[in-house]
Amino acid sequence: MTITWDAFGSTDPGRIRAGNEDAFRVDPEHGVFLVADGMGGHAAGEVASALVAKTAAEVLTRAVEGNGYEARFRDGLAEATRMAHDAIVTCCADDPRTRGMGTTLTACVLHPSGRLGVAHIGDSRLYRLRAEELEQLTVDHTWVQREVAAGRLGAEAARHHHLAHILTRVLSAESDYEADLLDERALPGDLLLLATDGLYNMLGDEEIARVLSSGAGLRSMADALIRAANAAGGVDNITVVLIRVNDSDVTAL
Ligand code: CA
Repeated sequence: MTITWDAFGSTDPGRIRAGNEDAFRVDPEHGVFLVADGMGGHAAGEVASALVAKTAAEVLTRAVEGNGYEARFRDGLAEATRMAHDAIVTCCADDPRTRGMGTTLTACVLHPSGRLGVAHIGDSRLYRLRAEELEQLTVDHTWVQREVAAGRLGAEAARHHHLAHILTRVLSAESDYEADLLDERALPGDLLLLATDGLYNMLGDEEIARVLSSGAGLRSMADALIRAANAAGGVDNITVVLIRVNDSDVTAL
């Protein structure tokens, strides 16, 4: 069985912030998708996420076009994060105004075989809706997540904790980087969602699952998610990338 996919991405500044420090890429042709959430002050945050999105997408696109890519899935994702980190380090060295900037990166690559590779740093998320069950495939690199994993904090308390925004891992010149590399399988019928924290801090899993289960088109679902996050306060930039996985035999009919 081979899979195909449709995708749609959208971003919105939200209701409070003047700028938008989120960046995303949707490249259905290569099966490359990502979100990045910049930080470090208005202008620098935008530079960081845009630079990392561009660099990672270029590396992944090149990797997908290379021979025997499926066997080197992990290498491509590892290289994308390394090159993205290098780009930040170089930019900060060249331009003092960007010093201290950083960004999250959650990138995924789909292969027609169904293989789904993921590189992840920070607190943006990849979710999967399968059989109406919403699952978060990435683990947040945050202080509260570490406390939850250690059993010192409950999941609900973590959501509203005053330190919820503190990241333990990020792409920046100040820190070494360590990406989680995931090797998943996508099945026909899966709906994947990449999102920045501006979405999930406003909407709980149940609300996200409800929109994703609606059976609407990807663009309407993306609009509905952003509208709901804004209705709930829209305190941060909101970015969503939706990918619907299809059975190639079915779509060929
Ligand atoms: Ca954010």
